[in-house]
Amino acid sequence: MKLYNTLNRQVEEFVPREEGVVRLYTCGPTVYHYAHIGNLRTYIFEDILEKGLRYLGYDVKRVMNITDVGHLTSDADEGEDKMEKGARREGKTVHEIAQFYTDAFFKDCEKLNIQKPITVEPASHHIDTYIKMIEKMLQDGYAYISDGNVYFDISKAKDYYQLSGKNPEDLYVGVRETVEEDKSKRNPGDFGLWFTVSKFSNQEMKWDSPWGVGYPGWHIECSGISGKYLGEYLDIHCGGVDNIFPHHTNEIAQSEAYFGHKWCNYWVHGEHLNDQSGKMSKSNGEFLTVSLLEEKGYDPLAYRYFCLGSHYRKVLTFTYEALDQAAQAYAKLKKRIEKLDRTPDLKEGKIDFYQNAFKEAISNDLNTSSMLTLVYDVLKDEELTDFTKLYLIEDFDKVLSLDLTSDEKEVDQDLESYIQNKIEERNIAKQNKDYEKADSIRDELLEKGIRLIDSRDGTTYELL
Ligand code: AMP
Ligand code: ZN
Repeated sequence: MKLYNTLNRQVEEFVPREEGVVRLYTCGPTVYHYAHIGNLRTYIFEDILEKGLRYLGYDVKRVMNITDVGHLTSDADEGEDKMEKGARREGKTVHEIAQFYTDAFFKDCEKLNIQKPITVEPASHHIDTYIKMIEKMLQDGYAYISDGNVYFDISKAKDYYQLSGKNPEDLYVGVRETVEEDKSKRNPGDFGLWFTVSKFSNQEMKWDSPWGVGYPGWHIECSGISGKYLGEYLDIHCGGVDNIFPHHTNEIAQSEAYFGHKWCNYWVHGEHLNDQSGKMSKSNGEFLTVSLLEEKGYDPLAYRYFCLGSHYRKVLTFTYEALDQAAQAYAKLKKRIEKLDRTPDLKEGKIDFYQNAFKEAISNDLNTSSMLTLVYDVLKDEELTDFTKLYLIEDFDKVLSLDLTSDEKEVDQDLESYIQNKIEERNIAKQNKDYEKADSIRDELLEKGIRLIDSRDGTTYELL
């Protein structure tokens, strides 16, 4: 398998340390709000990576954290604590916020057929692990105590700039421009491992430590949790591109300081989903969530299909027009598959050929659009029986996870009420003899793969 490795800035042959086994760590969500569909694009890419590796025959050991403590609203070691901000916004405790949004995140994942990793660990459950790591880094001279806080000394790290490709001057300027300088640090690029002197009054989540009551810095959780569950060597570490610096850069620095050797060989990053204004946001403009898409009548899997149409390393711009196109193509594809004759009649002849082509698409740095194209190639192939087509598509769907061969479609509550409201609106338009409006509602639904059926008893619908 070939993967683009951010560490060396090139596509490389992937070779895990232990034959047949992949130790994979993926940074989890910060649970202070709903995930936006940009965040979820990253989790879809990671889901495809995990399932793709399994399809190729690897045993994947995957771990994910839940950031429920100590993550700031800015990447530059400044700003508010996201969890505290969420708690204040909703008048709840930090624990309540964390639980609520963790559940919401996994509900969204379920709707998008993103499989929950077997090991998911909240950051706040592993404070003793971070303390142990920090103690060792202090002993070995990688960390220092200053004004009550513990910092990592980046001048002690080997190749600190390798992952980001930045140079110290860039970082120094960046840090100086955006942050009120933390005078306790030896070097402006140093980062906090443990804070007892908080920038925030009333910090709710606090623990005792050898350096006083406080809380961990916001990078140590991923080093701690991955080390605890996957051991001191990692094969692949993933996240969105914004994680490259400072988060993953600092993870490497502290993990390699602690373990005393190279830690992770492959760093794989997903590009962002942007909206038309640029960066996707949870506070400005329309907050694009899976529920919002459902309220607007979209099947969440149409969004998954939309993501799979582009490569994970390309910036993808979200527009409703683009999503409409994906939704139509997806509905049409499902319809074509539904029409296949299910009478058992398997012809083995070309199965290997297509499965190998699918493996090649996975191995080619996760080429999801080629994977989708293969579904269409199978459907077009006149040498295959319908049953063989179904067999292959079901097989590919272990990775694509688009429910391509399931007959039944569960209608979500939000989608159901959206459709009923539209039917009601159309009935009123018809009563008012506004047939233009009635037709436009019918067409709008059809574009989303919902066909209205009028009868003497009223209007029902079918999902295409
Ligand atoms: P967070 O909940 O902020 O920790 O982010 C969760 C994941 O979403 C991280 O892996 C981020 O790198 C990723 N992410 C953040 N913004 C976007 C975006 N606009 N598009 C894709 N992934 C993103
Ligand atoms: Zn992380």
